[in-house]
Amino acid sequence: MTEKIYKENSYLRELSAKVIKKEYKDGIYHIILNRTLFYPHFCGGQPRDEGTINDIQVIDVYEHEENIVHVLEEDILDNQANLVIDWETRFTHMQQHTGQHILSTVFSKLYNAKTIGFHLGSEFSYVDISLPQLENSVIEKVENFANKIVFSNFDIKTYQIGKNDVSNLPLRKSPSVEKNIRIVEIDNIDYTPCCGTHVRNTGEVGIIKIRKWEKYKGNVRIEFVCGSRALKDYRWKNRYINDISNLLSLKDSNTLEGVHRVFEENKLQSKEIRDLKSKLMEYEIKEIINSSKDYRSVKIISNIYTDRSFKDIRYMTAKIIENPSFVAVMAVIEKDKCQIILSRSKDINIDMKNIFNNVIGIIEGQGGGNPQMTQGGGTNVDNLNKCISTSLSLIKKELESLGSARC
Ligand SMILES: [Zn+2]
Repeated sequence: MTEKIYKENSYLRELSAKVIKKEYKDGIYHIILNRTLFYPHFCGGQPRDEGTINDIQVIDVYEHEENIVHVLEEDILDNQANLVIDWETRFTHMQQHTGQHILSTVFSKLYNAKTIGFHLGSEFSYVDISLPQLENSVIEKVENFANKIVFSNFDIKTYQIGKNDVSNLPLRKSPSVEKNIRIVEIDNIDYTPCCGTHVRNTGEVGIIKIRKWEKYKGNVRIEFVCGSRALKDYRWKNRYINDISNLLSLKDSNTLEGVHRVFEENKLQSKEIRDLKSKLMEYEIKEIINSSKDYRSVKIISNIYTDRSFKDIRYMTAKIIENPSFVAVMAVIEKDKCQIILSRSKDINIDMKNIFNNVIGIIEGQGGGNPQMTQGGGTNVDNLNKCISTSLSLIKKELESLGSARC
């Protein structure tokens, strides 16, 4: 059985150990030592430690039958192993994990709410609390109480008890093991069975900040950061607020109000632009109609646009064919593709879908629609003119065969 030194001393960063078992499978080494500093992955919601053994990076650490297995891509080539853990990662985990104990005990003491789950992620951590919902005032109350515990710098002790001693302690939750139950005690405030790594006094947590919360499976999921992660979180948010405040030329405390104002102004301007664009398009539609060419009493329109969106063209086409006796062949070139739309007024009895199907291959495209209006896109932009002229030839042929007989 591997002696788990991180349980006795979570502050030890370097240790020598002996190799008990080494196994090579699937190109990686699985090594068991007589003792270790490495915390295994996601044991009790906490991720594994990072670090090296004999200067070789440890790529995974897991628990197997009370042993800790270290996974490395290279052999350590010695029975003596020198273990070094990445202290920044370890200490961050200790801060977040202890912060979770504090938050959980505050929810328990203030609202009699249980902690149902805990996850310590690479950036944020969360606890699931048995409350149906939360108010901002509750969040503030919990944060204030939790940080009072932090600032009071209470001692944190870990010790083992037997099954019979369980009833003698006011444990916040039941232990998941029957023997050698490890208790993490925050100085008479909180007693919890836990196998993770924690700081030795609450002051080292630094600060606890709830970032946000959401309803989750009938409970609330609370995302939080502690210590160095809280500083990192505050740093970028502070920079953003300062940048926004400079952009808006407002005091930092007035930025939210300023953003609301810009947002409302933007909404109004967008509406004005939409209205103006719509008016402009009405003029444009009139101009297009005036430029149409008569063929056998039908007005034919054919245009290729390079500076308009297909949405605009479709809108204009729909407006044009509301009038009787129009046929429109419109196209848009957008970057390396083109789109066409073939349409006609209701009183012209020719099948635009059939014509579309005959010409769309010219621009290597596809699309769909109905006999009155069919549209699609293609990738061969060089052939767009040919596609349009072929469409017009086919339309004229259809018009010729129709003669003056219109529906
Ligand atoms: Zn813990």
